[in-house]
Amino acid sequence: MIERFIRDVPDFPKPGILFKDITPLLQDSAAFSQCIDQLIALVPSSSYDVVCGIESRGFLFGAPLALRTGKGFVPIRKPGKLPYKSVSQSYDLEYGTDRIEIHVDAVKRGQRVLLVDDVLATGGTMGAAVKLMRQIGGEIVGTAFVIELMFLNGRQRLADVPVHSLVKY
Ligand code: AMP
Repeated sequence: MIERFIRDVPDFPKPGILFKDITPLLQDSAAFSQCIDQLIALVPSSSYDVVCGIESRGFLFGAPLALRTGKGFVPIRKPGKLPYKSVSQSYDLEYGTDRIEIHVDAVKRGQRVLLVDDVLATGGTMGAAVKLMRQIGGEIVGTAFVIELMFLNGRQRLADVPVHSLVKY
């Protein structure tokens, strides 16, 4: 059912990329709600204390998941957005590098964390998120994605954490 609400946009943001557009899913209340329920079903909610989403589409799925399971929500953000003391992690892109950040006190040492994002592509972004979370003392229970682009082998790159996804291409 979720698949029907994911739109393929060819050559965005650049030629050769087939962009998985989740805005039709967000527009449909029943589909969006079902998507959150299906994400929740991937990992037992008793196994984690906190949900962490990666800016920005990770927020769209992570925050409702946190609310519905009765957990707190932690944002991982792009550089320069977080107001308090933060730690930073860079990661490689196809061309150049990027960086993500988290507040040093976003989790308590040993708290169990579920990391959420919309799409698993090469796994570079989530790999950096895993490092960041471990740096501040979070214990990663798993990662959950709405979409997994299997041909990019992100799962291999995230070899040391459980990877869960709803729709695989
Ligand atoms: P990666 O670090 O390569 O796993 O890329 C993951 C990040 O890039 C996620 O935050 C996605 O939102 C975004 N992304 C990568 N590839 C796509 C795609 N084909 N369609 C939509 N979003 C993508």
